[in-house]
Amino acid sequence: MKEPAILAEALTKDFGPIHALSGIDLRLEKGEFLTILGPNGAGKTTLIKILATLMRPTSGLVRVAGYDLAEAGEALRRRIGVISHQTYLYENLTAYENLRFYGRMYGVQDLEDHIRGVLEEVGLKGRRDHLVRTYSRGMQQRLSIARALIHDPSVLLLDEPYTGLDQHATRMLTGLLARLRDGERTVILTTHQLSQGLELSDFVAILVRGRIVYQEKVAGLSLADLEDAYFQHVGQEYRWDTQ
Ligand code: ATP
Repeated sequence: MKEPAILAEALTKDFGPIHALSGIDLRLEKGEFLTILGPNGAGKTTLIKILATLMRPTSGLVRVAGYDLAEAGEALRRRIGVISHQTYLYENLTAYENLRFYGRMYGVQDLEDHIRGVLEEVGLKGRRDHLVRTYSRGMQQRLSIARALIHDPSVLLLDEPYTGLDQHATRMLTGLLARLRDGERTVILTTHQLSQGLELSDFVAILVRGRIVYQEKVAGLSLADLEDAYFQHVGQEYRWDTQ
C-alpha cells in the first residue's frame, strides 16, 4: 500500500495529569490539505508540535514523509516546514541572515535566489537588512512564513499562521497556500476561522479535548453546516474542568 504523507495511530500526549491528546488517528495522502479546528486547549498545537518533531508523544505511532518520528532526524526536518506560536527566528540577526542560516542548515541550492523570492513573496524585501527584534509582530509572522518555506518543504504544518497578520498579509498567505496546493505538498493548518478551513482545504477535522470528534470532506460542505457541526461537537459552552 502507498505510504501516506502523514500517519498517526493511537497517538497520545500527557502533561502530568492533563491528557492533551487522547488517541489520535490521522491519515493524509501526499498532496492533501487538512484544516484542524477546535477550541482553546483542545490539543491542536500539541499535535502540530509532535508531527513537526518538536515534541515527543507519550505513546502511539507517527510517520511523516515516510519517516518514523521516533527515529527521524535531520532528513525529516528538511521535508517539514513549520509555523508555530514561536517564530524560531533569531532576534539579533536580520531577516536576510535568518533566512541564510536556515537555508544553509537545510542545504538549499541557489539560496540567494530563494531568499530574494520568499522575501518578495511575504512583502519584506525592503526590510531585509533590519534586525528582527525591530520588527513588528506581524512582520515577524511574515518572516516566519518565509522561514518555513525557504527549503521548499513537502509537508507544511501551520499552527494558526494568520495570527497577527494584517489584511494584506492575510490575503498574501491565502494566495500562497492556494498556490502551494500543487498535489505534491501535504498541509495541516490549525485555525479558529471556520471559513478559512473551507476555503483552503480538502478536509476539516474538529479536535475536542484531545480527540478528533469530526472529520469531513470540504467538497459540498457549507459554512452553516460546519458551524452547526462545530457547536454540536464542541458544545455551546466549553469548560476545561470536565476533561
Ligand atoms: P489554542 O487554541 O488555545 O492554541 P490548542 O488546541 O493549541 O489551544 P494545546 O496548546 O495543544 O491546545 O494544549 C492542549 C492542552 O495541553 C491544554 O490543556 C494545555 O494547557 C496543555 N499543555 C500544552 N502544553 C503544555 C505544557 N508544556 N505543559 C503542561 N500542559 C501543557
